[in-house]
Amino acid sequence: MLNGKVAAVTGGARGIGAAVCRKLASLGADIAVIDRSGSDAAEAHAAELAAQYGVRAKDYACDVSDAEQCKAVVKAILADFGALTILVNNAGITRDALMLSMKQEDFDAVINTNLKGVFNMTQACYRPFMKAKYGKIINLASVSGLLGTAGQANYAASKAGVMALTKVTARELASRNFTCNAVAPGFIATDMTAAISAEAAENYLKSIPLGRAGTPEDVANLIAFLASPESDYLTGEVIRIDGGLAIS
Ligand code: NAP
Repeated sequence: MLNGKVAAVTGGARGIGAAVCRKLASLGADIAVIDRSGSDAAEAHAAELAAQYGVRAKDYACDVSDAEQCKAVVKAILADFGALTILVNNAGITRDALMLSMKQEDFDAVINTNLKGVFNMTQACYRPFMKAKYGKIINLASVSGLLGTAGQANYAASKAGVMALTKVTARELASRNFTCNAVAPGFIATDMTAAISAEAAENYLKSIPLGRAGTPEDVANLIAFLASPESDYLTGEVIRIDGGLAIS
């Protein structure tokens, strides 16, 4: 379904991003695995994608909070693959603390990665999309941006910003028939949620109507739909994928 498409996935070496790479590759897309540091894990993941799915795959180091690095990585992807048609803005971090004790640098770090990173990568991809005459952007928001989770002033604000940016991008790209949507996961089992206390995890699980944490694959399946032509008439939407956690 995605043969001939080239997908860039930020934070693609582990967690949700790694599952997204696998799913898109299984549908035939070539994959640019972007991670912050150009780790061995990213290189191994790209090699595995190529071997398992017979697609082209390569790893790239890029800190998405740095606009120049984003421009450079898009240029490198275009040089290697000849096109770029799908962008999954997945890279994200948490630096949780109650507002009273949240450090300035932790507020800035989260906004710069989670929100400005989405802006930087999206801006860098506008021209390549126009050249390819195909563009799908999928942004990772979070139910935290809908609920305003206590202890996540930086994170919740960044993700609410991602939802707004998704709508702006969708409007700006609509005349070209390119789409931009966001997914808002709830509690997904990754390194990010492994870092929270057992008590907090237990509380999350109790408030999920479907009674379990999500898997990276649950999220990847939705993102694959949003990256495919099957979602061509869907844009500017934020879709919760949370087992019902934030049903309103
Ligand atoms: P994760 O396991 O912690 O992985 C995060 C990925 O982002 C890593 O590959 C990391 O690269 C990369 N990254 C972080 N900062 C970066 C930067 N400045 N530049 C480039 N890459 C960077 O996280 P996850 O749970 O898979 O989450 C993926 C996305 O889903 C995030 O946006 C997160 O906010 C969102 N989300 C997750 C959950 C959940 O429950 N897990 C819920 C809602 C939303 P390194 O390995 O180099 O650090």
